[in-house]
Amino acid sequence: MHDSLLNLIEYTPVGDIIVLALCIIMGILMRQTYISGSKTRYIIIMRIVIGAAVAALLNMGFRMLLYSEDAPPLPIYAMRLLSNVFLSITLYQYLRYLFGPLWIPQGMQQRYKTMSIAVMCAAVLIDILGTVFGFGFSLRPDGASPGFNVFILLYVAYMGLILYMIIHYRSRLLRQVFRGLVSVNAVSIVMLGIQGTHGQVSYTTLCYFLPVISLIFLFHSNPFDVDTGAVSSGYFEDEIRESLGKGVKTLIMCCTMVNFSKAIAQSGEIKTEFYKFFRQNVRKGVLYHFPGERLVLTIPERKGVDYEASVQKMLDDFGVSYRKIGIDYKIVIMETSEAVLDVKDYFQLIEYSESRMPFNTVHRITEKDVQGYYDKNYILHELQDIAEKKDLSDPRVLVYCQPVFNLTTGRYDTAEALMRLKLEKTGMVYPDQFIPLAEQFGLIHNMSMIILNKTCFAIRDFVEEGYYIKRVSVNFSAIDIRYDSFCQEVKLIIDRNGIDYDKIAVEITESRSEADFNLMKQRVTQLQDLGIKFYLDDFGTGYSNFERIMEIPFDIIKFDRSLLIESTKNDSSLYMVKTFANMFHDLKYAILFEGVENESDEDRCIMMKAQYLQGYKYSRPIPIEELREFLSPA
Ligand code: C2E
Ligand code: CA
Ligand code: CA
Repeated sequence: MHDSLLNLIEYTPVGDIIVLALCIIMGILMRQTYISGSKTRYIIIMRIVIGAAVAALLNMGFRMLLYSEDAPPLPIYAMRLLSNVFLSITLYQYLRYLFGPLWIPQGMQQRYKTMSIAVMCAAVLIDILGTVFGFGFSLRPDGASPGFNVFILLYVAYMGLILYMIIHYRSRLLRQVFRGLVSVNAVSIVMLGIQGTHGQVSYTTLCYFLPVISLIFLFHSNPFDVDTGAVSSGYFEDEIRESLGKGVKTLIMCCTMVNFSKAIAQSGEIKTEFYKFFRQNVRKGVLYHFPGERLVLTIPERKGVDYEASVQKMLDDFGVSYRKIGIDYKIVIMETSEAVLDVKDYFQLIEYSESRMPFNTVHRITEKDVQGYYDKNYILHELQDIAEKKDLSDPRVLVYCQPVFNLTTGRYDTAEALMRLKLEKTGMVYPDQFIPLAEQFGLIHNMSMIILNKTCFAIRDFVEEGYYIKRVSVNFSAIDIRYDSFCQEVKLIIDRNGIDYDKIAVEITESRSEADFNLMKQRVTQLQDLGIKFYLDDFGTGYSNFERIMEIPFDIIKFDRSLLIESTKNDSSLYMVKTFANMFHDLKYAILFEGVENESDEDRCIMMKAQYLQGYKYSRPIPIEELREFLSPA
């Protein structure tokens, strides 16, 4: 029995039991829920939790032995010292944790670490010496004496350093995070003070442990979305990376639903339906909420589980729910695969597949899609390179062309230039694969000018060789027209190749926007003054605003192949197309029919006042050099 110490201070195990309970709760929560942020920081928090639990246990053991009768002295000394050491380690880990969010440079971190460990070792040594020489804690025959406690100094030093760092580097923290850190540390200091003035030691471990809980709130806030029960997207890549590391395949299902967040917040019915689906299907995996109304479900594959069956069941259930809630959706399903080179690619791959599928369909990503995705990235990279090099003879951009039959002259004397790409890794690439990309990323303009340049070059050869070529039309996009320098550039390229302006025609599709329409009008008048002809491309596919078209003096109206197809459907469709043709004819526009594939197409076109015919019936697109075979002598 160590009486004198008992008279001096009060201890009950309540504080340490609370610490133990908190540690257990935190341990469970950290394992069971998805904590955002880096793995190393998560490990530090785990270490703190374990350290604090051990310190609390040792402190309880120490106090119990101290109170018990005839306990041997050595375990009392050992437990007391170890409890202090573990508490110091806990504080030290807390300090280390803060290096990350405070962006302490590596060298500085090392200095802080060495200093802290040196001070900790010194404290342990002084404490042992204190016991040996009697100025520290010791068990005397007349009772225990607390003596000088060097660990109090150590804790003050650690807390001081922690507070110093937080305040000194506060500019590196979000203001809310800074306030959170300071206030939680202040609370624990005040609690220590209150405890001290009451001669208590029961809550020491607890006081030091409290600030750690705040780390979880401040830096690893629970990423669950309460409405859907989904985890925010940040953790997705971590999970996939982890599974791949363990060699476990993961099934990924992505569902995009138009205006889903709004719908679920507003409609109780949708919410109930979603929860039903969720309860039945999502428990096996993790559900993530991605931007753009996407919910992504990941299910790690386990042996003995039939994935195909569960996916099918899920899709069936979804179909039932969908019929009730009626939100437009797209579902993409894939498995982790070696063909995907980087974890980052998974989500982009899903986006890529989504962009290519219609609403209310399900698509399963195949190796071919993965290849397509990487090809797209490669093509984009090459397009960027072409745009940067600004070489008007870039060998990767090829001019193909399709001869056009002129019914008035009975010969092939005009043609349309069509762009192709020839790339090292993919070989020939067709417009549907690269024109939308080039337009989307603002890379089309230089390519259009390459086609114009190469077309002019070929025309000059034909003319010099004595062929008759009336003109070749070149496709331009609305983006080209928007360049202020458009007319200047076109003129310059034609001039440089030394051919007449009327050998070139510009093909352009109808535009919906007022601004583009006005620009187009300006460009047409400007270039027509030089003799350059203008074609309205793809008539019948857009919204075909007659009044607007009539405002621009196009030379030729190109009827899209869809009109030709339409005209075969029934009498009234034929009548409609015929009426269009008659109108343009009466207004003195020349009409070109695109996509003439056979004799019956040809007959209909002739009946509908066609002047020019273009299509597979006459020729597929060919390299422009081969156009000679269709041309006649001048
Ligand atoms: P477009 O201007 O309407 O070009 C006609 C497309 O129809 C060509 O496809 C051609 O191969 C195809 N075609 C020709 N005859 C027939 C036929 O009898 N039946 C069918 N079903 N199709 C036929 P291509 O070469 O794949 O070009 C597709 C589109 O890419 C072009 O449509 C044009 O919008 C765009 N494009 C092509 N080259 C260029 C270019 O140099 N610049 C720009 N901005 N766009 C281009
Ligand atoms: Ca065209
Ligand atoms: Ca066309």
